[in-house]
Amino acid sequence: MQSVEFPEAVVKARFTFARGQCECTTLTCGAGHRFGRCVQRFTYADRATSDKPKGWQADHHIPVLIGGTSTFENCRILCLDCHVSKTLGS
Ligand SMILES: [Zn+2]
Ligand SMILES: [Zn+2]
Repeated sequence: MQSVEFPEAVVKARFTFARGQCECTTLTCGAGHRFGRCVQRFTYADRATSDKPKGWQADHHIPVLIGGTSTFENCRILCLDCHVSKTLGS
């Protein structure tokens, strides 16, 4: 499986756009939303890495496998709880 990473500039721009808040608005998400949106907030330094599997991640809104691209428009800031929920639920 091929994974295409977002350019750092795209992730930074998206994180600023999201104001550090998880962008998940999936109603069926199991990660405990309030008023339909996830309330988890982060600083940029909280970004998850393979060494540090907690915090937030840049997620492809439309998966790369079905044609999603690594652009600002297709980038979503997700906390790991939401990311796991999305991955399990779809
Ligand atoms: Zn979240
Ligand atoms: Zn969520």
